[in-house]
Amino acid sequence: MSKDLITLPHDGLRERSKRVGYVDETVKKLIADMEKATLEWEASREHEVGVALAAVQINVHKRVVIIRNNFDNKADKTFQVFINPEIVKYDGEIKEEFEGCLSVKDVYGKVPRYNRVKVKAKDLQGKDVRITAEGFLARVFQHEIDHTNGIVFVDRIKDNPESFYRLSKSGKIEELADEQREEIFSILW
Ligand SMILES: [Zn+2]
Repeated sequence: MSKDLITLPHDGLRERSKRVGYVDETVKKLIADMEKATLEWEASREHEVGVALAAVQINVHKRVVIIRNNFDNKADKTFQVFINPEIVKYDGEIKEEFEGCLSVKDVYGKVPRYNRVKVKAKDLQGKDVRITAEGFLARVFQHEIDHTNGIVFVDRIKDNPESFYRLSKSGKIEELADEQREEIFSILW
């Protein structure tokens, strides 16, 4: 586990991040730190892929998100950077699928998300970019942009205890016994 990553119940994860004015050396260093933290985490996790990260997850409250260019190939360690990302349109149906988070160890949840979103952001050169994302990528954007607003995926399903699951040592997503759920909830909130 990278020493830079913060995990619940760290308060920093529930703080809103601030907009980035322009991309200076500090922001470039931040992005490098985020990529390193994600890849170090991935190297320490046998059954998971580090798909994306928001700066808040290394306790820096700037609206910066990185998303892996290739979700299916761990050997591709490149990321795309989104500065001040925001969702400008939600579209399509709402679907419940499994989600995990580098900041919530071993806990998975079935989280309802829109199947399609339009995202506005700036790239590393400060240029406006607009993306229409569908399916898993749409889910990733909603998860990461939530992070920039101090929301962790577990907060979205807090009222649905049956939506919580656990990653077993062998890499399977398992249902929780009541006492496991109680223990997990006591850590998350
Ligand atoms: Zn996350």
